[in-house]
Amino acid sequence: MARDAILALNAGSSSVKFALFGGDGLEPAAHGEVEGIDAAAHFLARAPDGTSLADRRFPAGTRFAAVLDALLGFVADHLGGDRLGAVGHRVVHGGTIFDRPVRVTDAVLDALDALTPLAPLHQPHNLAPIRAIAASRPELPQVACFDTAFHHGMPVLATSFALPRDLTEAGIRRYGFHGLSYEFIARRLRDLAPKLAAGRVIAAHLGNGASLCAMAAGRSVDTTMGFTALDGLMMGTRSGSLDPGAVLHLITQRGMTAAAVEDLLYHRSGLLGVSGISNDVRTLLASADPHAAEAIDLFVFRIARETGALAAVLGGLDGFVFTAGIGEHAAAVREAVCDRLGWLGARLDRAANARGAGLISTPDSRLALWVIPTDEEAMIARHTQEILRG
Ligand code: ADP
Repeated sequence: MARDAILALNAGSSSVKFALFGGDGLEPAAHGEVEGIDAAAHFLARAPDGTSLADRRFPAGTRFAAVLDALLGFVADHLGGDRLGAVGHRVVHGGTIFDRPVRVTDAVLDALDALTPLAPLHQPHNLAPIRAIAASRPELPQVACFDTAFHHGMPVLATSFALPRDLTEAGIRRYGFHGLSYEFIARRLRDLAPKLAAGRVIAAHLGNGASLCAMAAGRSVDTTMGFTALDGLMMGTRSGSLDPGAVLHLITQRGMTAAAVEDLLYHRSGLLGVSGISNDVRTLLASADPHAAEAIDLFVFRIARETGALAAVLGGLDGFVFTAGIGEHAAAVREAVCDRLGWLGARLDRAANARGAGLISTPDSRLALWVIPTDEEAMIARHTQEILRG
């Protein structure tokens, strides 16, 4: 009997990442990306061992629906006897309504649309493929998985801004993001180190976007991103936490428009803004320019500072987990962060850190230090399969 394969989609402003999982165990079958969907789309797919399965360029102006059709065509050719059971999507915002993944219906799509003002730069891109597939393949089940859902149970103190109540009630509060990644890490940690997973852990998702999540017994109790994915840590091109007075100053004293401030804080700040060179940690670590080193130092300083705050929220700390592009690959950044966490009892095993996977603390370290690769697409696939099976 044909089994249900699951396609996981992670759609951004200019690219759609995908991963195809086969059969009951959700074995990875293929993964890839369509880049340049806003201009000339380029479709790349690889097998789990990295061999190329597709490399196709579309003429500029090709409609998004046609590119998605080609992706679904590729999937149909690579099901290996399975059938496509459902498509799972990463959706950045579930608001206060969605505390878990949900099967997409017209009513759900309307509700997700209504959340667009909370994430205007991301939500429309997440919803576009859902809409396109609903139109071209109405019989195909679709599931929305939220970046906010893992943080849904955060205590009121962690979700509140000190603003008048009517604004809080209108949804201007802290939500938190990167939830699919943190949920994956929480589950992985339960397998790898069950005793630690039952304790107080900070997970650090350090990619182009970056945040920390304080977990008590595997549940999020606080996180550094708040109302938007702009808050908290310094990131590749985003500023992270900023005195709101600085924003007012830019507008009132420098005459910047809201759009110009948005561009500054989302696209021209962070590692790129401080270094003046690049948002890519690889480039910065290889550079002899002192501004590159300053940017990395500030990135590390902010991580250590927020870790202190989250350790206070947790009432102590048992473990710290590095994940995502920088967390998984930049040993020098991990070392600098761990050196600053010495006061919490962190002792880095430098040889293990250089190898860069699994436990990287010494046996006498009071704080367990881990590197755990994240897999948001696998998390989406797992949720989608669970919903498909009811
Ligand atoms: P995204 O948030 O877009 O999913 P990733 O989690 O893939 O991003 O992280 C991308 C970032 O990871 C890059 O911009 C780069 O700074 C960093 N990175 C990736 N590989 C390495 C590496 N080998 N060494 C240092 N940094 C790396």
